[in-house]
Amino acid sequence: MPADHHTDVAIIGAGPVGLFAVFECGMLRMKTHVIDALDTVGGQCAALYPEKPIFDIPGYPKIEAAELIDKLAEQAAPFEPAYHLGRQVEQLVRAGDGGWRVVTAGGDTITAKAVIVAAGVGAFGPNRPPLDGIGAFEGKSVLYYVKQREALRGKRVVIAGGGDSAVDWALLLADIAARVMVVHRRPKFRAAPENAERLRALADAGTLDLVVPFQLAGLEGSGDQLAAVLVESLDGAKRRLEADVLLPFFGLAMNLGPIAGWGLNLERNHIAVDPATCATNVPGIFAIGDIATYGGKLKLILSGFAEAAMAAHAIHPIVHPGEVLHFEYSTTKGVPGS
Ligand SMILES: Cc1cc2nc3c(=O)[nH]c(=O)nc-3n(C[C@H](O)[C@H](O)[C@H](O)COP(=O)(O)OP(=O)(O)OC[C@H]3O[C@@H](n4cnc5c(N)ncnc54)[C@H](O)[C@@H]3O)c2cc1C
Repeated sequence: MPADHHTDVAIIGAGPVGLFAVFECGMLRMKTHVIDALDTVGGQCAALYPEKPIFDIPGYPKIEAAELIDKLAEQAAPFEPAYHLGRQVEQLVRAGDGGWRVVTAGGDTITAKAVIVAAGVGAFGPNRPPLDGIGAFEGKSVLYYVKQREALRGKRVVIAGGGDSAVDWALLLADIAARVMVVHRRPKFRAAPENAERLRALADAGTLDLVVPFQLAGLEGSGDQLAAVLVESLDGAKRRLEADVLLPFFGLAMNLGPIAGWGLNLERNHIAVDPATCATNVPGIFAIGDIATYGGKLKLILSGFAEAAMAAHAIHPIVHPGEVLHFEYSTTKGVPGS
């Protein structure tokens, strides 16, 4: 049964920036509901690189992406946000009282006085190689994200792609996988030069195999378990690589999805905002994090955090009209339960 909810601010996207927006809204006494299409919080950090260390979060010289998300969720918790996970937002329509109604694919609605769109790159998904029958193996022996490196211990792994993800994972798996084979259609890799060099050194030492210049041509296996990956070179040479797992790393398909139809000013698949407030062209709708753009925008988590603070301050008069907002430090105010 679809449910109807009411809140002060609806936040679309539970990535790092959406989570921090819960905290910033909470500090200004604004209740939040957070909606995400994924069935877990954390956005790209949780879905794409949970075990990778991040080095540019202020105050943390090094923190794994999954741990950052745990900390952000913990920081948001005192403000008791309501999470609606596994729910794609399809529509954003005006509510009768001047606010907005967020409508999910399942028909749930969240009516809010203001909306923060923190939807990252939109509905993101991997670019899938066009191989016959690949769907049967996906999620079991064809993986687009590695959630736990340990799960690949002792396996024969084919990695396809020539960018940072392909090279990083080849380096990370070289000493725990039974075999790592890297398939790329060019001899040169587009990864960070020092990592590309390390890859080549491991290949020279015989620790892993570079299968270049080849591209994926087919899969063999039964049920959901892969047995071999077939590859072909441009001049028609063929090879059969016996493998337990294929990791295709051909980048992310970025698709704004339903957001493109909400009447927001877009610039190359991003939402244009006023950098002072993160307001969009539509009153009451704000955008922050990777999806928001303005002159000089840096697509970094730390920029998104600052945008969350600015949006929350700009939304305060909408939620608490007529109330004077005194700027206060968190050290003065504290948080609930502190
Ligand atoms: C491999 C890799 C390494 C990175 N390393 C760093 C780094 O070292 N430092 C750094 O600062 N940044 C790094 N980044 C970038 C960083 O992850 C992003 O800047 C950050 O995730 C943006 O956060 P966000 O909350 O704006 O969006 P996202 O993390 O993309 O989260 C957006 C969420 O919105 C949801 N969503 C989208 N559309 C809808 C919809 N219609 N309905 C419901 N939900 C929706 C998505 O499911 C997603 O969960 C890296 C990224 C990658 C891929």
